[in-house]
Amino acid sequence: MQAIAFHKLLLLLPLAFYQSTNGMEWNYLKNGKDWEDLCSSGKHQSPILLDSRTARKWVLPGITFWHYYRLLKRPFYIRNNGHSISLDIPVTSNGRKPFITGGRLKGRYYADGLHFHWGSYKSRGSEHLINKRRFDAEIHIVHRNEKYRNIAQAVRQKDGLAVVAIMVAIVRKDNAKSTPLSRLMEAVVRVPIEDSNATVFGQSSLDQLIGGVSHRDFFTYEGSLTTPLCDETVTWIVFTETTTVTMSSVSKFWLLRDHWGHRLINNYRIVQDLNNRTVFYKKRMS
Ligand SMILES: [Zn+2]
Repeated sequence: MQAIAFHKLLLLLPLAFYQSTNGMEWNYLKNGKDWEDLCSSGKHQSPILLDSRTARKWVLPGITFWHYYRLLKRPFYIRNNGHSISLDIPVTSNGRKPFITGGRLKGRYYADGLHFHWGSYKSRGSEHLINKRRFDAEIHIVHRNEKYRNIAQAVRQKDGLAVVAIMVAIVRKDNAKSTPLSRLMEAVVRVPIEDSNATVFGQSSLDQLIGGVSHRDFFTYEGSLTTPLCDETVTWIVFTETTTVTMSSVSKFWLLRDHWGHRLINNYRIVQDLNNRTVFYKKRMS
């Protein structure tokens, strides 16, 4: 109760306060149902339910992933920001920033950062649902339109951001090999509390990090950030192919703590109304 009372008190403080602090002004105890004062009440909010039967089938070009297959120059530095585990995307070994083009995007969108949403020992924690299924976790790679200098600027523009979402499924593997994703997930035990950070040693490409999932089949729609201030400036690209990890790797997330010292679990926002939006579904021709 004490935490909730303090949260209410914070709502009285000016908006700038929210943007200058991390972790303490909102949490996932109600999966976003209590963010009304923080999030705009727009009609293009995320996440949503994605349904391959009702989505508009789409014959336009796919998304092209540039420099996603090249090794990145430095290891990942991960950080517990009180809401998630996040990292900045390094440049590749030849000094290029990975970017995407195509689909319904105009121009280049540079890969800027990556973070995770997850569940708990008892529940799954993806944000989007595909054909009524919630997945164990979801990876978001946040890209910014080349027109804007940084995320802070892009987040305020209608065409500012493109987020690639990859669903994560837990599989039973008796002899699980270490992968870039499993190494990253295992490393989160070194960032147990807000503002702690660590280096994940080893080199990989962005594509290897997401387990080499197929980029060809995806949903795309116009939506919002799924964290306050829920700005409606995101073109979502949600892959239908999942990446897999073991229970042992994902379970490391369930040990993390948020700003309040609560367990940082189920850090997903509840699904939002579609309203009048069109969801596009691109499926490879076979
Ligand atoms: Zn996210």
